[in-house]
Amino acid sequence: MADCLFCQIASGAIPADIVHQDDDVVAFRDIDPQAPHHVLVIPRRHIEAVRDATGPEGEQLVGRLMAAAAAIATDLGLDERGYRLVSNTGVDGGQSVFHLHVHILGGRPMKWPPG
Ligand code: 5GP
Ligand code: ZN
Repeated sequence: MADCLFCQIASGAIPADIVHQDDDVVAFRDIDPQAPHHVLVIPRRHIEAVRDATGPEGEQLVGRLMAAAAAIATDLGLDERGYRLVSNTGVDGGQSVFHLHVHILGGRPMKWPPG
C-alpha cells in the first residue's frame, strides 16, 4: 500500500533498525521505545489489524507473526525474565499505524492493567 508507513519500511523505502526479516515478516526497533527492548513485528503483506487476518491465510499469518515475535524475543535474551506481546487494534486499542503489528516489549517489568 503506497501511502502506508510500515509497507514502506517493509520494502526498504523508509529506513528502520531491522532486527529480523524473511519472506513473510519484518521486525524493526520502535522509533519511540517504551522499554529497553521495543520491537515491532509486521507482515510484509498489508493488513490493517488482527481483526482483518481472517480465514486460513490470516490465521497462518498471525501464527507466523507470533512465532517470529517469540523467536526474536529469544534472540534478544528476553526468555528468562519474560516480555509482553501487544497488538493494538483500532481507536480504543490505541492503534496509530494501521498496518498489523505486534509489539515486543521487554527489559523491564511491565505493569497491569495497561493505561
Ligand atoms: P501502534 O500505536 O499503532 O500500536 O504502534 C505504532 C508504533 O509505531 C508506535 O509505537 C510508534 O512509536 C512506531 N512508529 C511510528 N512511526 C515509526 C517510524 O517511522 N519508524 C519506527 N521504527 N517506528 C515508528
Ligand atoms: Zn501497510
